[in-house]
Amino acid sequence: MESLLYRINRRRLLETINVSSSIGASENGGLSRLALSEEDKTMRDIFVEWLHQEKLDVRIDDFGNIYGRRKGKRNDGPTIAVGSHLDTQPCGGRYDGVLGVLAALEVIRVLNENNIETEFPIEIINFTNEEGARFGPPMLGSGGVTENFTKNFIYNIKDSNDITFKQALKSIGYMGEIENRLSNVKNFIELHIEQGSILEKNNTSIGIVEGIQGMSWLIVKVTGETNHAGPTPMENRKDALLATSKMIGRVNDLTKEFDGLKTTVGTLNVKPNITNVIPGEVEFIIDIRHPSNETRANAIESLKEQLSTIALMNDVEITITTDWTSDAVEFSQVVTESIREASEKWGYSSLNMYSGPGHDAKYISQVAESGMIFVPSCKGISHNEQELTVDDDIEKGANVLLTVINNLANGTN
Ligand SMILES: [Zn+2]
Repeated sequence: MESLLYRINRRRLLETINVSSSIGASENGGLSRLALSEEDKTMRDIFVEWLHQEKLDVRIDDFGNIYGRRKGKRNDGPTIAVGSHLDTQPCGGRYDGVLGVLAALEVIRVLNENNIETEFPIEIINFTNEEGARFGPPMLGSGGVTENFTKNFIYNIKDSNDITFKQALKSIGYMGEIENRLSNVKNFIELHIEQGSILEKNNTSIGIVEGIQGMSWLIVKVTGETNHAGPTPMENRKDALLATSKMIGRVNDLTKEFDGLKTTVGTLNVKPNITNVIPGEVEFIIDIRHPSNETRANAIESLKEQLSTIALMNDVEITITTDWTSDAVEFSQVVTESIREASEKWGYSSLNMYSGPGHDAKYISQVAESGMIFVPSCKGISHNEQELTVDDDIEKGANVLLTVINNLANGTN
């Protein structure tokens, strides 16, 4: 069949998003719908109801991930999975992962109302706790089903009120069965807002996501000598903060040496942090990202050398330890090509890009050929009540999703 004969119902999709925007609505037009909260339960209940209305086979797994399965001609064949997450940050936005789940639902509605049969079954998924705002780390639902985290680890994570993930999952009635986990998936597609401003700056509607940047967090501890600000001569000081300020400049300059590198220092812990005392110790964390694991590793090596030199020249000690690393992900070329073709067919502008933040597709890409479609975020704002993706872009993203899902589910791509 020619999928371009079908398009998503813009009004229906926007109305569906509006319903979601009313559940956990925050004062300034955003959403506070933390994972496994009462608001999350309300949203889940409505979502499950919508899945039933589309006559999908609904199941819940032991992490609370929700699946709605639409049969294919080859119903024992591999699945085409599509989805994202319905939870948000506190005072988060209305679109984030919500758009990916509800656009997927709209795709199912279009397929159903046009009686379109696909070769392979299609599964729409809402992953639990993508945000990691209530239970850290993020992406627990997708990370759980792909065994990046053990069940024991996930179940015992506590929120700030000492409620475990397991207790919260039980209390909202979404603890399902291990047998219901995602399995035998051919492809996974996630539509998501960009959360950056590349698409907007390029006046482009569709981001073809080639992968997710890898990142490392490096903890840097600089040790000097605490002393009195008055009597200590300038030339005899071991000022840990002064040395740190030079280091932070260096961290920023590193991005000129390595194309595509992003570095950030977002925390600074100064001791003793007193106005008339020379800082004796500073700890800061460097966030460093690049689409290539090799380039990131080379950049880190170079940075370590450069920071050690600064320490030596400023008469302070330095230790650098890696706190956390997340390797880069390359998405499937079959999927990125399918997204490119679909954008072209629709006549939408597109560009290839990498994702800065992590997404559920990161983990699912370990078990299925995966890919992501990005739509523009106004001013690049996300995780914020002001988060906005305009209706035209929502429609375009969902149309591309429809074509991609249909093609993949028919083995055309
Ligand atoms: Zn998200």
